[in-house]
Amino acid sequence: MKILTYPSPILTQIAKSVKLPLSSSDLDLVKNMWQTVQGIGVGLAAPQVGASLQLFIVRLSQDKDLAKKLKESDFIVINPKITFYSQNKVSMIEGCLSFPSEYWDIVRSEIIQLEYDTIKNLKEVITKDAKPVYQKSKKLLAKGWLSRVIQHEYDHLSGKVFIKAGGKKLSKKDLANLEDAIID
Ligand SMILES: [Zn+2]
Repeated sequence: MKILTYPSPILTQIAKSVKLPLSSSDLDLVKNMWQTVQGIGVGLAAPQVGASLQLFIVRLSQDKDLAKKLKESDFIVINPKITFYSQNKVSMIEGCLSFPSEYWDIVRSEIIQLEYDTIKNLKEVITKDAKPVYQKSKKLLAKGWLSRVIQHEYDHLSGKVFIKAGGKKLSKKDLANLEDAIID
């Protein structure tokens, strides 16, 4: 799938909520997004592929060290609401598939709580065309990279791109020393 780059208008629109169960075209979208993000990023939001819908994919298992620490590293988030942002904030370097080769140092809450709908058997749905089993209003408390990826993707659903998150753009010199960043 083609990933839209800024300033594509859909990237700054508020995405529409998703009806469950997903339609077959929404399911196709999810499958395509799942494949698209593999190997190039750790998260992808529907507006980035031209669908103005409240859903995103997280695929942190591509980072093996990180995946070991997480109970769940690959999942789908549908109709999310961040219900808690910690007062404690941390700085991390972010990239975005919709902004090729831009990296920003952005301060965000260290810990968040997310409430969302999801597909429990997502891997079977993707690989074996299984019928989706939905779980509604799931709660997740996240810190570290997971918290960061969720906040970045969540912003995409409200039309907020990461360069507007009040961070600092990294210079070419900074980039030469860049070792670790998330790209979504
Ligand atoms: Zn992004």
